[in-house]
Amino acid sequence: MKNHLHHIIKSSISATSSKIGSCSRNTRTLSAVRWNSTNVATVDDEGLVVQSFRSKSHIPIFNLCLGGNEPRLIAAATKQLNTLPFYHSFWNRTTKPSLDLARELLGMFTSNEMAKVFFTNSGSDANDTQVKLVWYYNNALGRPNKKKIIARTKSYHGSTLISASLSGLPALHQHFDLPTPFVLHTDCPHYWRYHLPGETEEEFSTRLATNLENLILKEGPETIAAFIAEPVMGAGGVILPPKTYFEKIQAVVKKYDILFIADEVICGFGRLGTMFGCDKYDIKPDLVTIAKALSSAYMPIGAVLVSPKVADVIYSQSNKLGTFSHGFTYSGHPVACAVALETLKIYQDRNILDQVNRISPTFQDGVKAFSSSPIVGEIRGTGLISGTEFTDNKSPHELFPPEWKIGAYFGAQCEKHGMLVRVAGDSIMMSPPFIMTSNEVDELVSKYGKALKDTERKVEELKHQ
Ligand code: PMP
Repeated sequence: MKNHLHHIIKSSISATSSKIGSCSRNTRTLSAVRWNSTNVATVDDEGLVVQSFRSKSHIPIFNLCLGGNEPRLIAAATKQLNTLPFYHSFWNRTTKPSLDLARELLGMFTSNEMAKVFFTNSGSDANDTQVKLVWYYNNALGRPNKKKIIARTKSYHGSTLISASLSGLPALHQHFDLPTPFVLHTDCPHYWRYHLPGETEEEFSTRLATNLENLILKEGPETIAAFIAEPVMGAGGVILPPKTYFEKIQAVVKKYDILFIADEVICGFGRLGTMFGCDKYDIKPDLVTIAKALSSAYMPIGAVLVSPKVADVIYSQSNKLGTFSHGFTYSGHPVACAVALETLKIYQDRNILDQVNRISPTFQDGVKAFSSSPIVGEIRGTGLISGTEFTDNKSPHELFPPEWKIGAYFGAQCEKHGMLVRVAGDSIMMSPPFIMTSNEVDELVSKYGKALKDTERKVEELKHQ
């Protein structure tokens, strides 16, 4: 590996980059990223990915939803680059693709009325934008103390100072002096791991809603501005809300005039089998964060959808407070917006929800059929997202010794069998592309099963050492 690679600080969550880092000479196929026999990516003699993805590759960060070789997206980008490669979106100016995309998005989100769209470059800066909107809103309403944001343990909302603070994962806080003081965390809604003996899912949800209310009362409702949640927690381990959870949480949030921010970065655009996670769990948010599937990862783009409740205050009060001075050079970048528009058209043309709902039962049932494995604590998921937790004796409390690195071993076996999964400790996450065929789903399930058998043998071996 040549020197310049050392100037890149490698992210600890990039399974792909750590894998390719070991390559020494000549180009080669990154075969671990494939579902089928087609080459998907090549890396050069310095270990850099150089060639486009050729198939329905699975990049384990929840985003390449249309696979790696979608000609319509390439054509949309090329056409836009030839027409208008850039114009900004400041000072009441924007481009046609950006306006068309905003209109399209407002029409697509139906669980609550949305009035405005603010474009960003990613999910992280979209969540930073959310906090600024919420603060501006409360300043406009003359409530300068209503500024704290409540997020949840194990949530993931991004990597910037604010979005990492909102995230509930210790690794994002330690050594960064985070979270910032105005961010509070309430319970992670993982029933299997955290329920009390004999507690039903509904009772668990009631307890969590009560804990949230107690936190609000302790801090003072006049200091709490917003609550942020992913409909299904993604990077924290694919954690589905227990029965009645969002109904009860929303009632508390509403009672204290707290805004609800739905972070749809992973769930949005079909991953759960509904267009948005909010549709699935009957969430009526005031603000929505989107990214990832919005462009199927072909261009970096995120956005914030703003309800009339928030937008009207910001607009009507902005004379008093001055302009809403917030924006990025590349907010509403025309090429990113053109690609996102085409992505949404493809989702429509291919009835992507029908497609996801056609293949997801085979995916979910296939993977969940391994739940009886003695090393599996829980396999959970919905639509095309799945999480596996390795524990001993099927108990949420009997963890394998961390030095056994069972999750990492399973991940390595998956790679050996030709598929990448996301590993976080002894928790595994999968988020395959929306366009898989039934055969490819069968192949995925079979590879998962093989890797699981290898891992069961490894655990036996370690237990007898
Ligand atoms: N929110 C959620 C729910 C996410 O999963 C992510 C990324 N995994 C983000 C926000 C941050 O998005 P980005 O990495 O595009 O900044």
